This record gives sequence, structure tokens and C-alpha cells, in this order.
Amino acid sequence: MSSNDFRCPACRAKQPLQPVCRRCDADLSLLVRATEHVAALIARHEQARAQADHHAMETTARQLALLAPKRLTAICPDKRDQ
Ligand SMILES: [Zn+2]
Repeated sequence: MSSNDFRCPACRAKQPLQPVCRRCDADLSLLVRATEHVAALIARHEQARAQADHHAMETTARQLALLAPKRLTAICPDKRDQ
């Protein structure tokens, strides 16, 4: 997701991902942290795949399935039905 694709979940204002909405002042800090955590999980998953570390791949895939199921199916099409 590029930063220009982000919309405030409260007022739908299009903006870069930032801790406070520019229009409605909604606190988006948890959303920013969750987005950063998902990006780190995806990076860890890709690193595990490069190293053929199946345990780490499964662990990160399980966490991504809970936090960002659409992102998981994008990077792991075989996880679509789980
Ligand atoms: Zn807003």
C-alpha cells in the first residue's frame, strides 16, 4: 500500500499514513502501529521463505492471517482457503 492509498477510517479523507487525521483529528496511532507491524511480518515472512525456514514461514503466516488476511493471500496464494 503506498502512502497515498490511505484513507482515514473515520472520515475517509485521503492522506499519507500518519498518527492523526488531517481533517477530523482522529487518533490513528494504533492503525499506524498495526500497519508497521504487518509490514515487518511480511518482511520476516519473505526472509524466512528465502532461507527455506518453514517454521518461521508458518508462524508469520499465522500472524498475518489474523492481522491482514488479504495481504497474506497476496503473498501466499496457497493460504487462501485457510
Ligand atoms: Zn479523518
